[in-house]
Amino acid sequence: MTRFSELGLAPELLDALRDVGYEAPSPIQEQAIPPLLEGLDVIGQAQTGSGKTAAFGLPMLQQVDHGEQEVQGLVLTPTRELCIQVTQALRAYGSRKGVDVVAVFGGAPIRSQQAQLRAGGQVVVGTVGRVRDLISRHSLLLHTCRFVVLDEADEMLDLGFLEDVERILALMPASRQTALFSATMPPPIRRLADQYLYHPVTVKVKAATLTVETVEQFALEVSPREKADALVRLLDAERPDQAIVFVRTKIRCEQLFRVLRDRGLNVKALHGDMTQGARDGVMISFKEGRLPLLVATDVAARGLDISGVSHVINFDVPTSPDGYVHRIGRTARVGRSGRAITLYERRQRREIEAIERHAGVKLAPWVKDAHVAPTPITAPPRRHSKPHVSADGEGPVRKLIVAGGRAAGLEPSDIIHAITVASGLDGEAVRNVRVLERFALVEVPEKDADRVVERVGASEGLRIESARR
Ligand code: AMP
Repeated sequence: MTRFSELGLAPELLDALRDVGYEAPSPIQEQAIPPLLEGLDVIGQAQTGSGKTAAFGLPMLQQVDHGEQEVQGLVLTPTRELCIQVTQALRAYGSRKGVDVVAVFGGAPIRSQQAQLRAGGQVVVGTVGRVRDLISRHSLLLHTCRFVVLDEADEMLDLGFLEDVERILALMPASRQTALFSATMPPPIRRLADQYLYHPVTVKVKAATLTVETVEQFALEVSPREKADALVRLLDAERPDQAIVFVRTKIRCEQLFRVLRDRGLNVKALHGDMTQGARDGVMISFKEGRLPLLVATDVAARGLDISGVSHVINFDVPTSPDGYVHRIGRTARVGRSGRAITLYERRQRREIEAIERHAGVKLAPWVKDAHVAPTPITAPPRRHSKPHVSADGEGPVRKLIVAGGRAAGLEPSDIIHAITVASGLDGEAVRNVRVLERFALVEVPEKDADRVVERVGASEGLRIESARR
């Protein structure tokens, strides 16, 4: 088992990792951190949930020079959500070192972002459109930037941002270090990598291949505060013969163990901070069936044969789709199928979708006594498909409201452009655009409306929502 301390990371970063409670590097971190620390360019093929943010973020933070206030690192993201998520993560990882991380994204006042950039910003995380905008206003200068990351490059391609990305890269010093992270490598991304990365090292999280057993798979949306209660209800309804509950960190493992124990359940914890003797004791009693319930981190559970277990419960969504396959792929008993239930918070919906694509299953919403067809556990590679919807002019339409109108300088073409670029919808499918003083109205096919709202909302500049009926 590789440790963070073996990867060449500085003490203040290791301390920060201890603060956030990460036990050991995820596979993409293990592979990407050493070459990035050596100064090499890296192509990382990894999905949301793999721990990719720390994989590029830690080496970037390590190379930030305290004494310099200029921009030293830039992370480009396709969406506002990802921008905010990456910023929060980098602030946490860089907290002990005191690195100044600034987020810049569309749909928020540009003035305050300009002020933050004037005040500092050794690392800037930004959406492509807003970064270009700030560059053109001379608020963001990149000639001092030594490290750039393109995060979720295939999403940038899908959203039509690739040319903008190239323009931004062209403004940076040729001697800079570049990392490109993408779940898939369609030809335009390959070409981009060929042109802008220098002898890159490619790292991939390889897909798990496992013996095929069958598992009934469910997911249950919960709010963070009710998670423990939801778990207790779930255990009560499921009455598992033997269950293993997976959590992400040692701290959470210990906390959840206490909660369950205090409710009178026969439960033990298993995590990397326990002595070897204590761990062995827990493993043996679990294996022999004397212990019905175990709360464990992935790493600690690695040595555990859980093939006799009737239930795997993911109290925390696994760090990667592969991790999911690993966790639940071991539940099923020969001749009987196991049950796997994953708890998730609303903001983790994308991680669940990544798991569904990767494992080739749909996780059914969990309700008491629910049964679904047991599914073999495999991990097919994700196919890349650009959303394409043809205009058929038929069927119901939905009216959407765009926040912003003539007063903001919006024209009908801006709205059509934003919708088609973000959602993949044909221009002809976008109808009846009416730009008023403070807002605009537009109609799109009902079947595409949710995606338009989600995609346009997630990209840049425009706030859009369904009109009330
Ligand atoms: P990411 O793929 O970077 O969005 O990370 C997905 C989630 O995994 C985030 O909630 C991270 O905080 C968490 N995470 C990243 N690396 C680790 C690690 N080594 N151990 C535990 N959790 C991690």
